[in-house]
Amino acid sequence: MKKISIIGSTGSIGTQALEVIEKLRDKFEIIALAGGHNKELLEAQAKKFNPRYSVLGEQGLEKICSDKENDIILVACSGKIGLRPTLTAIKNGINIALANKETLVMAGDIVMSEAKKRGVKIIPVDSEHCAIHQCIKDIAQVDKLIITASGGPFLHKSIAEMKNATVKEALAHPKWNMGKKITVDSATLMNKGLEIIEAHHLFGFDYDDIEVVVHPQSIVHSAIEYKDGSVIAQLGLPSMHIPIQYAISYPERFEGIKSKSFSFAEIARLDFEKPDFEKFPSVKLAYKAGRTGGTMTTCLNAANEEAVFAFLDGKIKLYNIYEIVEKMMSEHKVIQNPTIDEIFETDEQIRLLTREHIKTIAQKQP
Ligand code: MG
Repeated sequence: MKKISIIGSTGSIGTQALEVIEKLRDKFEIIALAGGHNKELLEAQAKKFNPRYSVLGEQGLEKICSDKENDIILVACSGKIGLRPTLTAIKNGINIALANKETLVMAGDIVMSEAKKRGVKIIPVDSEHCAIHQCIKDIAQVDKLIITASGGPFLHKSIAEMKNATVKEALAHPKWNMGKKITVDSATLMNKGLEIIEAHHLFGFDYDDIEVVVHPQSIVHSAIEYKDGSVIAQLGLPSMHIPIQYAISYPERFEGIKSKSFSFAEIARLDFEKPDFEKFPSVKLAYKAGRTGGTMTTCLNAANEEAVFAFLDGKIKLYNIYEIVEKMMSEHKVIQNPTIDEIFETDEQIRLLTREHIKTIAQKQP
């Protein structure tokens, strides 16, 4: 039995991971569950899955991640609270199934070099990186990574329509059922921007060799192109259960959650198109932040997150998110090769500045 702990068990990925584990009860033993705020759900999960211990909130994450009983820890919480515990787990030689974006966006250089030093595997849960992980056999022979994007609810809407989008429209993702923050990020394509940065760190590819293509059906989860022109893609129905199960079971595969067989005939067609970088400036901003490196990606992430919260609160318009992120990035004094403390300080500082700036925008709104 593989011993596993889940950080963020009450969230979207965490609950789906437990649905996977429910089907694979004989394969996994749960060491610990850590939930965010939902006490009742955590208690219900603990009752059902009988972990050795369960914790609520940030306290206890360090304990879980220092527990060498774990074979793997699924880091499925959202936000920066995932970063320090993940580093602790890596330092303890524990493999990571990674769903938390901030870990790599904020501290990809540190996290990947620590993992390499200790021979720790970081197996991505995110469908795109999970796809690439499945495609790559000989990384030295791969020329480029092709990350697919569903395009979100505004793919074929005009900029004007997008500018006046309501929260409800932004949250109506056509393909994936996810948390609110990531759903807004999918609508602005910032999610894809963050994934480019993650891919750069996970697979060690230059930003010039990471491409984004819009694929509305969300069947091709990403692809790689080998030197000789061969393209290998990973396909599957758009369900997070599949990449979650892959990440926690790796290198084994089980039937587990599979509910139906894949049929090309049923899907019938797969469409692809170039992303519109004018309508979705987030991808450009992310490339810029990634190429600049240092604390710039932390700045991008912090400014975006604060802006998304303000949008969800009805304080700003959807399009303000881009302007806010761009402004924060243009004013940020980058620290190259930052320490973890400097990364967290930058995060705090950018959030304060962003909130101040949001106030001035909110006052101007009709
Ligand atoms: Mg994704």
